[in-house]
Amino acid sequence: MFENKDNATNSIENYGEFGLIDHLTKNFTIKQKSTIKGIGDDAAVIACDSKKQLVVTTDLLLEHVHFDLSYMPLKHLGYKAVVVNLSDVYAMNAEPTQITVSIAVSNRFPVEALEELYAGIMAASKFYNVDVVGGDTTSSTTGLLISITALGMVDKKKAVLRSGAGINDLLVVTGDLGAAYMGLQVLEREKQVFLVNPKSQPDLEPYSYLVERQLKPEARKDIKQLLKDLDVTPTSMIDISDGLSSEIIHICKNSKVGCNLYEDKIPLDPQVITTCEEFNLDSTTIALNGGEDYELLFTIKMEDFDKVKGNPHLSIIGHITKEDEGIHLITRANTKIPLIARGWNALKKEEE
Ligand code: ADP
Ligand code: MG
Repeated sequence: MFENKDNATNSIENYGEFGLIDHLTKNFTIKQKSTIKGIGDDAAVIACDSKKQLVVTTDLLLEHVHFDLSYMPLKHLGYKAVVVNLSDVYAMNAEPTQITVSIAVSNRFPVEALEELYAGIMAASKFYNVDVVGGDTTSSTTGLLISITALGMVDKKKAVLRSGAGINDLLVVTGDLGAAYMGLQVLEREKQVFLVNPKSQPDLEPYSYLVERQLKPEARKDIKQLLKDLDVTPTSMIDISDGLSSEIIHICKNSKVGCNLYEDKIPLDPQVITTCEEFNLDSTTIALNGGEDYELLFTIKMEDFDKVKGNPHLSIIGHITKEDEGIHLITRANTKIPLIARGWNALKKEEE
């Protein structure tokens, strides 16, 4: 059948994640007047009442693909599974309200393990003030699967889409980038050491920030209020799940604009810089392609520059240009190189 490569006519590797989604969904048309924004943003936007709109987003996490239980405690996994969804809700400028939780689990997991997973889900739902309102439970033959759907509310017409960036807007990112990916590198290295010598006790202290960003990420629930206090309305927004590069390209493609990103402006934690040196990796490449940062990337009008300038939570990293100028990284050496999204494709090749 189709899974037999000999008979398959077109491999999914030819598409990549985003190409595949486009290919599979391009023929869907919107039939309901209440669908304000369908496929193609961090969350869909649905008309609700005269004051509010509903946003909805879903994510799937698979054992061996998205997490490794040899270093990911189940409680952290439950917490992270919630956070990655809520991050997409915040990326719409919305407030998360409810989640549903679906799991597929093999009998290799004792009930106590699932209780741990749910302790993490409960901790996150408490911290982010969302209700768990349903889900589904089924068996799995391969490993653990978690799928969470998050709902949120946003004032009518206040949802911030990926498509609103305008020429000369400033590109702004919250927090710092690359730490979660470097945390994963550290954990993978320690796992290999442990496999050779099970008595070894890893000293993760020098990497504490990186490991925390990988195992216990938080979504930027503070940014909506921060921007309100600064009296800044983002023109477009996305969360950074796949890496800065890929998310900039999403904003530019959806907004039909170009962008100049400045390498020397990309915010990096000192632990990222020292650990990249230790691993012989380029920290810019890691910030651009690492992913799982769950920071917010947005554009603002140029006249709002003074309002965000110097804010410890925000870094201005570039500006929006005309579409035909393309999407570029301006390096520290002042050379201009086209940005490419690696994301899923590159990661897949790495794994093979
Ligand atoms: P994010 O990284 O913010 O979670 P994705 O890149 O996963 O966003 O998805 C981009 C858009 O494509 C979203 O609107 C998402 O709902 C939609 N999407 C992803 N996979 C599918 C699918 N299999 N069928 C329909 N829509 C999909
Ligand atoms: Mg997103």
